[in-house]
Amino acid sequence: MTHLPLQIHLFPCRSDNYGYLVHDPLSRETAAIDTPDAGAVRAALEEKGWSLSHILNTHHHFDHVEGNLALKEQTGCRIIGATTQSEKIPGIDRMVSEGELVHIGHHSARVLETPGHTLGHIIYHFESTHMLFSGDTLFSLGCGRLFEGSAAQMWNSLQKLMRLPPQTQIYCAHEYTINNAEFALELEPGNLALQTMSAKAKELRREGLPTVPSTLRQELDANPFFRPGSAEIRRKIKMPDAANEAVFAEIRRLKDQF
Ligand code: ZN
Ligand code: FE
Repeated sequence: MTHLPLQIHLFPCRSDNYGYLVHDPLSRETAAIDTPDAGAVRAALEEKGWSLSHILNTHHHFDHVEGNLALKEQTGCRIIGATTQSEKIPGIDRMVSEGELVHIGHHSARVLETPGHTLGHIIYHFESTHMLFSGDTLFSLGCGRLFEGSAAQMWNSLQKLMRLPPQTQIYCAHEYTINNAEFALELEPGNLALQTMSAKAKELRREGLPTVPSTLRQELDANPFFRPGSAEIRRKIKMPDAANEAVFAEIRRLKDQF
């Protein structure tokens, strides 16, 4: 046998972050996607009986790199992050850029550069298993705030994601879905896919369960940041004829005030 499926372990940490462990059972290599909290990552590793071989960082914000150095010291793991802003990734060993592959045992993730939330934000796409770790670029029913990049950059980044296979599972870094759904429903109350996702998210959160992963198909149908072409959204914000990029920028601006 050459391949066993990757195993994903999701765990909530900090106030609303998700940590992820990605494990290849054959090689026993295990990657943490970001390190929101060293203690929480360590506890997750112990619970699964896995040992850490890699950290894959999406961007330099504190709630994504907090545990880097402590975990590296304890496990000797290798830290991978973006070439752009690499000086802000504590303990970085390997710098990666658009299109490069990162191997976890017998599996690999392709790096996509998605500037917008930060200038050096990258995401990890495990192509053969259709899994995307989207960091703070794409959330379920939302997208990251523009702390460093422009709306044009973020729209360009999101368009890259729109071209991935629709069955791709989206593992994002925060549980923001309920708040995102409330905003999305103000813009597009008639969107049935959105109504369905919103109701499902409420049900899951009532039971204390995560709303992630969603699929790209679901996001394309319901996430307003993917939908600047929607006639209903355009009517709502009175931008019937604007370019998609301008509509996207306005949706992002409105969400900042929501
Ligand atoms: Zn962030
Ligand atoms: Fe974050």
